Amino acid sequence: MVESVRVAVIGSGPAGLYSAEALVKQSGGNVRVDVLDRLPTPYGLVRYGVAPDHTSIKSIARYLQRVLEDGAVRFLGCVELGVDLTRDDLLSCYDAVVYATGAMVDRRLGVPGEDLPGSVAATDFVNWYCGHPDAADHEFDLSVADVAVIGVGNVAVDVVRILAKTADELRATDVPQHALDALAASRVRRVHLIGRRGPAQAKFTTKEARELGQLPAAEIYLDPADLDADPADAELAEADRHVRGNLKVLAGWTAEPAGDRPRRIDVRFWRSPVEILGADRVEGLRLERTRPDGAGRVVGTGEYETLPAGMVLRSVGYQSVPLQGVPFDDRASVIPNDGGRVLGADGAPVPREYVAGWIKRGPSGVVGTNKSDAAETVANLLADLDKDPSPAPARTPDEVFAERGLEPVTYDGWLALDAAEAALARTLSRGDRVKLGHWQAMRDACS
Ligand SMILES: Cc1cc2nc3c(=O)[nH]c(=O)nc-3n(C[C@H](O)[C@H](O)[C@H](O)COP(=O)(O)OP(=O)(O)OC[C@H]3O[C@@H](n4cnc5c(N)ncnc54)[C@H](O)[C@@H]3O)c2cc1C
Repeated sequence: MVESVRVAVIGSGPAGLYSAEALVKQSGGNVRVDVLDRLPTPYGLVRYGVAPDHTSIKSIARYLQRVLEDGAVRFLGCVELGVDLTRDDLLSCYDAVVYATGAMVDRRLGVPGEDLPGSVAATDFVNWYCGHPDAADHEFDLSVADVAVIGVGNVAVDVVRILAKTADELRATDVPQHALDALAASRVRRVHLIGRRGPAQAKFTTKEARELGQLPAAEIYLDPADLDADPADAELAEADRHVRGNLKVLAGWTAEPAGDRPRRIDVRFWRSPVEILGADRVEGLRLERTRPDGAGRVVGTGEYETLPAGMVLRSVGYQSVPLQGVPFDDRASVIPNDGGRVLGADGAPVPREYVAGWIKRGPSGVVGTNKSDAAETVANLLADLDKDPSPAPARTPDEVFAERGLEPVTYDGWLALDAAEAALARTLSRGDRVKLGHWQAMRDACS
């Protein structure tokens, strides 16, 4: 087994923390791990993606916390690779580096009108209601009556649910107070959930769909014609439990609602956005009807319709961004790798550099998927170091941080912020935590 080595993990989301855990466990305690994050807070999308009303999934943070409390692991917040430190800095003071920086940029629709005010990436809206400090100053015009959400994955469903819930239903969650106040003042009456393909291709999980149909303040409707449009669905449902479950839930939404609740969700399949309309800001969404082509894809029918919409939220996928100096596959938006070993331009592994999580395999899977993914990366990393130990690093990480004038937020700093958020929740009589969503307030709380 490798002698004591020092590894940097960049990113403290699930992939980074599962990597740190695997490094400690698989090495038999011979590795010291620094987990660096650009934020003062650990847990990545568990804190800033998983919806605030999904508290049981958020509790994964309690498991990940144990990783940070291992004596061999240090958390170092407010250190951004590419801004505060370079790749060369890392390679000069660590034996190996694992990149686990996730995928936090939205994909675009590529239609006219996409840059109008009121056309919004779901990423930004999610960041805002999750209290991500980069989104603290974002403003969304919730005085509009109709909102269109494009995409039929779990993130789109999260966004629809947050828009359709009342502020009272969200009060006990950790949504920052400025976002809760804005949601409380929302005049949104109708939310359209729009899919380019059919119900059998919807990516959302059956559990998320079921939850959407059970909101006390919102009724839900799906045109039965949308549900029955593809004769191939019955066969797909027979073969696939996920499809079967989704179709069963969707079939429960086809009765015209009574109209006696404050909000309404309209689910629309077989519609492709072709233009976001409006002079100075979003006023509507032009859609082309689609139909199955018989080969598992859809084609446009040449029939168009216009939805009134004061806000259009796109949720058609996430992608990673390149890290300064690190190989990147622009097409797949991942770091090219073989089992987590970073590959250079010649296709050969680059010594001492590894990758885990969404930036390794793309934005797919649930939190737990990152555990086996990280275990694979770490097994390869340790095997490589065992076979070919790295030369002793020229400097220690702390020397490099000092040289760069960095004072990383420590785990104790994060605990102080954690306590400040719990105290704020008590002051506001709101649940277990209310997030501090501004950089300065977060930094102050850490110190
Ligand atoms: C909106 C949303 C909701 C989701 N809901 C669920 C759910 O309910 N259940 C579920 O199982 N899964 C859910 N997921 C999926 C789950 O969150 C991901 O599988 C998981 O977070 C991916 O882990 P990761 O570590 O690769 O990336 P991330 O969680 O994104 O972590 C990456 C970390 O890297 C840091 N970082 C980025 N760039 C740098 C840099 N240059 N320098 C230093 N640090 C950097 C970031 O600050 C972040 O902390 C959701 C995803 C999204 C987007």
